[in-house]
Amino acid sequence: MSAMLLNIGKAKRNEDIVEDFDVEVSLDDDLVIDRGYHFLSPARVTGSFYYKGSILFLDAKVTYTLSCVCDNCGEEIEREFSFDMSEEFVEEYASHDPDDYLINQIAIDLDRPVCDNLLYNLPSRILCKENCQGLCDICGKNKNTYSCNCEAIESEERHREQNPFNKIKIIGDN
Ligand SMILES: [Zn+2]
Ligand SMILES: [Zn+2]
Repeated sequence: MSAMLLNIGKAKRNEDIVEDFDVEVSLDDDLVIDRGYHFLSPARVTGSFYYKGSILFLDAKVTYTLSCVCDNCGEEIEREFSFDMSEEFVEEYASHDPDDYLINQIAIDLDRPVCDNLLYNLPSRILCKENCQGLCDICGKNKNTYSCNCEAIESEERHREQNPFNKIKIIGDN
């Protein structure tokens, strides 16, 4: 994975400058492999940054495409996700926290902050569609594409079992 470095030299020399950027950050499938997902594109990161008082302030929008599975019916889906992120990068000499994102002289590395924010923003539940019907508890078929009568049959049976007159009828039939 090659680091995505942004040159911030100009913004450091002139604190009045707000600089725009539009770059791609490669994404490692290891980030989402435990959920069975993989990335279909690098992350596109667009935004701006400025430097003030030895801190680099960055705002960005991150967009990426994921191959994932519906948490309800298990169908494979491809979906684009995006989120906004705001981060600060500090000079090494001013950093007190090992989790700080550091300024490397005149550059910042976007990889870790983008991956951290991506994981933080990853939806905990993904559905193929809002009203996904899921799988039938009885026959296991995908109810979005196949309509079975399992539920109707089951409730009919339950109804019959609960009705005392049916028992009498059964005895009578013998
Ligand atoms: Zn689904
Ligand atoms: Zn069924």
